[in-house]
Amino acid sequence: MRVAVVTVGDELLSGDTVDTNASWLCDRLDERGVSVERITTVPDRIADIARVVNEYRAEYDAVLVTGGVGPTHDDVTMDGVAAAFGREVVPNEDAEAWIAEHGDYAVADLTEGTTHLPAGARLLPNPEGVAPGAALEGVYVMPGVPAEMKAMFETVTAEFEGEPTHVEMVRTSEPESALLDRIAAVREEFDVTVGSYPGDDVRLKVMATDAETAAAAAAWLRERVEE
Ligand code: ATP
Ligand code: MG
Repeated sequence: MRVAVVTVGDELLSGDTVDTNASWLCDRLDERGVSVERITTVPDRIADIARVVNEYRAEYDAVLVTGGVGPTHDDVTMDGVAAAFGREVVPNEDAEAWIAEHGDYAVADLTEGTTHLPAGARLLPNPEGVAPGAALEGVYVMPGVPAEMKAMFETVTAEFEGEPTHVEMVRTSEPESALLDRIAAVREEFDVTVGSYPGDDVRLKVMATDAETAAAAAAWLRERVEE
């Protein structure tokens, strides 16, 4: 399964907020063997959201959108997603019912628009807050508040599945440029992909679709690089 993550918010683009939602989602999806192929951040602007969602829903099996969900004037994500499908944003009965049952407020007291979702969308209840999320033909819309986004993602995790990757890390004090021959060799010898992450030392991330191959390739490398 190949997916894209879209985070929405002017505050992300101005550097006021660090986009921890994207990395959290990537981590959870990667764990499930789902390949995340894009992270894109867009401003709180309907046309920008619609354009990216439209492009990505054609290309990927799912699109996960977070941020800009709710009734305040700068929250336009539902409008952007609806526009991507050429639909209206309409009052959602399931969202009203869910809030009436679980919320501390009466639906009538909520700000206008709180329970409005793109026409035909499935409600994603918000276990941690008021603003509901939505799922529509592989596009999942979740709030930006990290606790709410995480809790909502947990309710749909089972819908994200891929081929789990087995990972082994190999550390070495050798510089990255010196390692190229052995990285090429291990990739020829085994059915693995290798990531190389320089820092104080170099971390080689060996990935395979089965645990034995990952372990064998990592052992092969450990014998051939300096500690
Ligand atoms: P609300 O209904 O509370 O307005 P929302 O879905 O509209 O929620 P935003 O208004 O986009 O969410 O953001 C609310 C807060 O959540 C932001 O001020 C920020 O602190 C945090 N937040 C939003 N997006 C992200 C993100 N991608 N990574 C980390 N934190 C985020
Ligand atoms: Mg908001």
